[in-house]
Amino acid sequence: MIDSHCHFDFAPFCDDPKAYLELAHKAGVGKLVIPAVGERNWRLVRQLAEQFDSLHYALGLHPFFSAEHSRQAMNALKAELEAESLLREKNASRCVAVGECGLDFAITDVNRNQQISLLTQQLELANEHNLPIILHCRKAFPELVRVLKHNPPVAGGVYHAFSGSLPQAKQIIDLGIKIGVGGTITYRRANKTRNTIAALPLTALMLETDAPDMPVSGFQGEPNRPDRLVDIMHELATIRAESKQEIEQVVTLTTAELFRISL
Ligand SMILES: [Zn+2]
Repeated sequence: MIDSHCHFDFAPFCDDPKAYLELAHKAGVGKLVIPAVGERNWRLVRQLAEQFDSLHYALGLHPFFSAEHSRQAMNALKAELEAESLLREKNASRCVAVGECGLDFAITDVNRNQQISLLTQQLELANEHNLPIILHCRKAFPELVRVLKHNPPVAGGVYHAFSGSLPQAKQIIDLGIKIGVGGTITYRRANKTRNTIAALPLTALMLETDAPDMPVSGFQGEPNRPDRLVDIMHELATIRAESKQEIEQVVTLTTAELFRISL
């Protein structure tokens, strides 16, 4: 299985990445994609992926951290992605996407125009480099769809930690974007999300932990871990009609294809 969204450069993983990766591997989670949050962790996610074969990363500017992005951040991101493009020609880049980026209108110091501008530019960069996009969205669904319709992602993408309605999921899928399924479905009270995920085409789904965030049910109050992808997978098999084996196969293939990760 692939954890399509894991902040593996954050604590507690950065203290002992080898041990946490072994835990993940033992549970059947063979690969992880680490989304970046901003200039401060680009080098870190790259270093981790250079150290461990099972890690890949994305580079981007996360809307939750809007206040800390410098004025040069977008230019710096452009330069980083150009460097990755050159490496990709030699098959030496482990950067598989642009992100995480998006709109977060739930933060207190929200600057909507700045966020929309940063997202638009990152969509353009993703298209320029033919990379998929990793999207984050809170309390900004209509605005996100509007921006995406103006800049359809040519290499697709994933809407991470989806927790919306069926019509919303369909709008996202129609834009060529996959639905990231996280720990939310492990909570029985999350009926809307569980019903939505159960009703979508299996080929539209990807699995993610968002670790160390979004603890799965039963582990509230502790940092989430990539090996707990297994619990999300288990719950997905419970709410869907297909067998666990089929779900695992299809979802892993979808994720590997989107990020062009060889299995
Ligand atoms: Zn994230």
